[in-house]
Amino acid sequence: MQVLPTHNGANTKECPPLGKLIVLTGPSGVGKGTLMNEILRRYPELHYSVSATTRSPRPGEINGKNYNFISRGQFEKLVTQGEFLEWAEFAGNCYGTLRAAVLNHVQAGQLVVLEIELAGARQIRHTFPSTLSIFILPPSFAELEKRIRGRGQDAEKDISRRLQRAEEEIAAANEFDVKIINDDFEQAVKEIEKAIFE
Ligand code: ADP
Ligand code: 5GP
Repeated sequence: MQVLPTHNGANTKECPPLGKLIVLTGPSGVGKGTLMNEILRRYPELHYSVSATTRSPRPGEINGKNYNFISRGQFEKLVTQGEFLEWAEFAGNCYGTLRAAVLNHVQAGQLVVLEIELAGARQIRHTFPSTLSIFILPPSFAELEKRIRGRGQDAEKDISRRLQRAEEEIAAANEFDVKIINDDFEQAVKEIEKAIFE
């Protein structure tokens, strides 16, 4: 039996040995969500862990599919109850991976994919050392900025926060098992497929 610390290490829970966890991380705007959607379209057998967040939904985002959109009060309650495998604050909002969204599926032998930011990715790797961790890099910082702006869904102050954070995130890329540059989209999808299935 493995002992799993929560985010702050205050509580512990026991959990049977795990199947395969895959963490996809990288700076905001690099294309993680778009790549993930394509991978999930091609491989419906993969299970995507839907995170909880205090961020407001963007146009087109669906509660329960893209995220579980909850209030800060609800988020804090889940933290206190130890319901998160990891959580982090990012650009003014909280994001967390729900235990229930992951462990049952891993224990059932499924491949479970988490698309999360750096602090959460580090936490998951610490808790589950056998995790396959993939870091997505932009071809350049200028292209990253272009993509965040091109997405057209974040306020200017959020864009600045995300770009500031991106520098720190990119500097941590070498910590991860596989680094993939998302320049040509199809090529990046192929490299993710290779990392997961070969
Ligand atoms: P993230 O989930 O990492 O924040 P998104 O998946 O929302 O990023 O992608 C940000 C923007 O970049 C989107 O408009 C998306 O269509 C675009 N994008 C993703 N991959 C590429 C690529 N290889 N080349 C050009 N634009 C891309
Ligand atoms: P966005 O607001 O652009 O959807 O997400 C902002 C950042 O939060 C992204 O880097 C995304 O990967 C990350 N994120 C999404 N869900 C989680 C989560 O459950 N935990 C952590 N730590 N980060 C998450």
